[in-house]
Amino acid sequence: MAVALSTFLTTCLEFAALYAAVYGCNVAAYFAVCGAIDYLNRRNPERRIQKTRRGDKRIREEIRHSLKSIAVTAASLSIGVFALLKGWTPFTPFELTWWTAVPLFLVTMVLFDAWFYFGHRLLHTKPFYKYHLLHHRSVAPTVWSSDSIGLVDTAICQGFYAVVPFILPIPPVILVAHRVFDHVNGTFGHAGFEYFESRTARHPWPLLCATYHDLHHSEFRYNFANYFSVWDRLLGTAHPGYDRMVAALEAEQAPMRFVGPPVPEPQRPARAPAAADAPAAPAE
Ligand SMILES: [Zn+2]
Ligand SMILES: [Zn+2]
Repeated sequence: MAVALSTFLTTCLEFAALYAAVYGCNVAAYFAVCGAIDYLNRRNPERRIQKTRRGDKRIREEIRHSLKSIAVTAASLSIGVFALLKGWTPFTPFELTWWTAVPLFLVTMVLFDAWFYFGHRLLHTKPFYKYHLLHHRSVAPTVWSSDSIGLVDTAICQGFYAVVPFILPIPPVILVAHRVFDHVNGTFGHAGFEYFESRTARHPWPLLCATYHDLHHSEFRYNFANYFSVWDRLLGTAHPGYDRMVAALEAEQAPMRFVGPPVPEPQRPARAPAAADAPAAPAE
């Protein structure tokens, strides 16, 4: 009995140490990636997606909510990694080689894309929208918006990391790599600036660019997917003007600046998004 209790306490302490490290790394990655993309935004003001809206007034609030929601994401990732390290999953993870790493990473992308799409659709239904409204208060998203999500919303969308090791023999490194990729992808997707317009980001390609999720924030009822546009196109939720907008951006975007001092924004009548801009009811 004493041995069992001691083993249990040791396991709890091991999990707590892992969770603290994962939360700390997530927070550090949040500030590092947001800071890097903000640097880029300040040098490429012509690339702003919503020309007359600004989300800057909400940044402090977005950071505050992000520090809470990252606690839930870190818990999900820690549960997945811990289960794998302890051998609690039904399968032994594949050995990590290039031959296993690349296909497994792609499989997790496809699985997460489906998980996110249907979880996100669920969050736009009447009973669940109250959990998602906080994220939609960022009508003009900023680099700091990606994790500005309610705790239930985060548990639904980011619970993937705690579940996938039980259905896929995935090494812990791939799970962590996927989380890093998702974090960078999500931050670019909320940056409010477009850097990835290209033919491959529109029909007939399944990929997408930042304008895709930005349209979800500005118009609410379209573009629920995260990595690929396939589910939106199959189920009729893709924004009807998205492909045309990307094609126009390919033709007119200014060259990117990576160095030099910040560039002032072109003068335009600014319209700050009010909280009331976010719909209080589900968008479906
Ligand atoms: Zn939404
Ligand atoms: Zn979003």
